[in-house]
Amino acid sequence: IVEARNVKKSFGSHEVLHGISLNVHRGEVVALLGPSGSGKSTFLRCINHLETIDGGVLAVDGLPVGYKMAGGKLHELSPKETAGRRRNIGMVFQRFNLFAHMTAIENISEAPIKVLKQSKGQARQKAEQLLDRVGLKAKADMYPSQLSGGQQQRVAIARALAMDPDLMLFDEPTSALDPELVGDVLAVMKELASDGMTMIVVTHEIGFAREVCDRSIFMDDGVVVEDGLPREMLVNPKHERTRDFLTKVL
Ligand code: ATP
Ligand code: MG
Repeated sequence: IVEARNVKKSFGSHEVLHGISLNVHRGEVVALLGPSGSGKSTFLRCINHLETIDGGVLAVDGLPVGYKMAGGKLHELSPKETAGRRRNIGMVFQRFNLFAHMTAIENISEAPIKVLKQSKGQARQKAEQLLDRVGLKAKADMYPSQLSGGQQQRVAIARALAMDPDLMLFDEPTSALDPELVGDVLAVMKELASDGMTMIVVTHEIGFAREVCDRSIFMDDGVVVEDGLPREMLVNPKHERTRDFLTKVL
């Protein structure tokens, strides 16, 4: 579902991704680990069409990010076409980014109504199911300010799921939360994983990576250093840099 070959990305003269190669298959749950500044968020943003790449090949759902083929040539996508591509990808950020002036259920049904042109009733019904799934059925009419961080994050996950994505990207979804709220969010993610969702999760939760993820990838300084089974890599890393990182986060 994601194919990256030698992906490069620079901001000005600063190359942040120095050639990332990895494939993520449908149904895979991948933990993306690495120190601050290693390029994890940038790579996720490239997958989600929030950044275009400067080199290599990056395809999502078989289509190149930022470009389309027409008449045997690559053309840059318009903003509208980019938005269309992004529709199948759900993204959850560290900061929950809910619409403050909308209730939980309105946050979840907004995009299905506006983008997918679902009827209000249809979108609301789906939103209720999703709220139930993330354990927040009773909070449907609360505003974000009336919810805990963990509850807001679960609403954000439900909001992403409302678009029926093929792929979910999580960028440190629990790192802004008080420790006692982390578990509920991870439990929702774990259930999503066992339901077969394809997920790429940037996280420092090594326990989650080991228990829930099929694969772990360690990035450092814009390259993939190690890619393997969590139970091997996290317990017995092959590379010095991975070992170093793990001793710092564990
Ligand atoms: P963290 O764990 O702190 O979130 P990260 O691995 O997600 O780190 P990125 O946010 O991808 O790292 O950043 C990688 C590098 O790219 C950093 O040096 C950062 O300063 C730089 N960078 C990221 N976004 C931009 C931008 N929009 N403009 C300029 N530089 C950027
Ligand atoms: Mg980041």
